[in-house]
Order: sequence, then C-alpha cells, then structure tokens
Amino acid sequence: MNIKSLLDNLLSLFYPKQCIVCKNILVEGEEFLCLHCLHKLPKTNHHLFPDNAASKNLIGKVIFKSVTAYLFYSKGGISQSIIAEIKYKGNRRFGSWLGAYLASDLKNSGFFNDIDLLVPIPLHKKKLRKRGFNQAEVIAQGISGITDIPIDTDNLRRSIANPTQTKKGSFERWLNTKNIFAVEGNNNFENRHLLLIDDVFTTGATIEAAIEVINKGCKNVQISVLTLALSC
Ligand SMILES: [Zn+2]
Repeated sequence: MNIKSLLDNLLSLFYPKQCIVCKNILVEGEEFLCLHCLHKLPKTNHHLFPDNAASKNLIGKVIFKSVTAYLFYSKGGISQSIIAEIKYKGNRRFGSWLGAYLASDLKNSGFFNDIDLLVPIPLHKKKLRKRGFNQAEVIAQGISGITDIPIDTDNLRRSIANPTQTKKGSFERWLNTKNIFAVEGNNNFENRHLLLIDDVFTTGATIEAAIEVINKGCKNVQISVLTLALSC
C-alpha cells in the first residue's frame, strides 16, 4: 500500500465518503457513486438512436449531425441529485469524473470518432463569476481526458444573460434565446466537426441558438450535441 492510499484509508475512518445519490458509505474501488447507483443510472442509449427525443426538438429548426443526452432526467431521480451536486454544490471533481465515465461508456460505439473539438456551452460572464465555474466545461474536461479531443472555450461566447426559461411559452423562449450567443475567431470552427457539451437538454432552445449562430458564422462546420441529461 502506498502512502497516498494509506492516508486515504486513514482519512476515510474519520470522514467516510458517501455515495452522492443514496448516501451509503462508499467501499474501496468506488468513487462518488456506489456500484448500486452506478448500475441504476437511467441511461437513454440515445447515441444508438439518431431519431431520439432530444433531436426531435431540433429537427427542422437548425442543421446538425446528431444530438445525444446521456441520462433521462426526472424530478427526485438519480439525475437530479447528480446535476445538483455538480451545478449547485459546485462539485467540479465529480463533474469531470462523470464526463470521463460517460465518455468511456460511449467511446466503444465510435461516438467520438470524427469529433474535432469539444465546445462547452458558455455561461454569461456574470453567471460564471457568481458560480465560479462552468459546469459544461467541467464535464467536457472529463470527456477530453478519455478521448484526447481538445476543448475550445474561446470561440463561442454568451453575449446576453438569459433568465430561467422553464415556465415560458415557446415563442417567448425563442425571443429570449435569440442572439444570446456570438462566435468569435470563427476560423477555429471552420472545416471541423464540433461537439457542443451542456449539462441538461430541456427545451433545446439554448442549443438551437448556439447551433444557429455557429452555422451562420462558420463555413463547412458540422455540429453534434452531447448533454448529461434530458428533461424534455
Ligand atoms: Zn448509491
């Protein structure tokens, strides 16, 4: 046993690590989630079905290659605890770990094979300052660690901070999200296949706005989308 694992074991005697979802004490080999919760993750397997619930929200509105949400989101479910841990409790290590976990899971299907760049959906700088980090970027870091695909955080910018969209009608949502993004230094996106990364796919309005502005500003770009969860 090396010194680090000896210290970890000693520390866990006093501060045992708990599963983020069920709060059971984690055993050796488990990290963040117990095996039981890991096996119960509500996976969509949407990467195998291009005509899935998320992509149906965007078809006919913008041009894209594929949309995949990794988990189903339900109130009170595993995904809600997971998202809350990353987004509101600020557990960045867990966000990155989960990004790596989902990347390992999707990698064998060839999902990442022709992706050139990971592009986390940016937060407005005010929100970024308040939260201290962008949850989409943390997830992307985990994915990049497994796939070796570089992350681009310089070329897609959120120019308008939009308020919460959950209770608005579709026309108001559209008005609300129109022009919220801008592309800068578009050469980096041209002739590339981008994978936009976000935490939750809800109405698709935010993703739609990002795809629209990239397609408009960049030549010969392909866009796919991967989110941690799907709540529509
Ligand atoms: Zn658990």
